[in-house]
Amino acid sequence: MKTVFLDRDGTLIVDPADERVDSIEKIELFPDSIEALRYLADNDFNVVIITNQAGIAEGRISEEDFWKIHSVVLDKFSESGIHILKTYMNNEAPGAISDLRKPAPGMLLQAAKDFNLNLSEIYMVGDSQSDILAGINAGCKGSILVKTAPNHDVISPDAIYTARDLLEAVVFVVEN
Ligand SMILES: [Mg+2]
Repeated sequence: MKTVFLDRDGTLIVDPADERVDSIEKIELFPDSIEALRYLADNDFNVVIITNQAGIAEGRISEEDFWKIHSVVLDKFSESGIHILKTYMNNEAPGAISDLRKPAPGMLLQAAKDFNLNLSEIYMVGDSQSDILAGINAGCKGSILVKTAPNHDVISPDAIYTARDLLEAVVFVVEN
């Protein structure tokens, strides 16, 4: 089973300036998200979403509301015929000592266990250094940075590849 791990905020959907996707109104897909997901599906890739949601620990959003908003995101994908294999979410605060919150690899390791995945064949794609390090810490094939964070100025020497956007990233995933 070919699989790819994708971050959500700043990678699949726009990370708002206030970094809070805390209402359905604030869900905005990137213009190429559907095309990128379809390209993965057409090439027999399963997609697993790996997302940190510190806003829950910080009291900015409830866990219940996160899942409500996330289900609307998934509906937008499924309307286009795209199925997400599973979403792993961590609700801890930045700086928490955690085996799960990216850059820790716990969510990726759990996905590998749940779906019997070979991590050395899987790329992690995300817009922040914590995504890049989570992929490396999990023993993934490599981590790909997408330059779609709110300020577009993230750089990562640890990324195996840096893509302008998600579509460019998934082309690399499929071809490599
Ligand atoms: Mg992100």
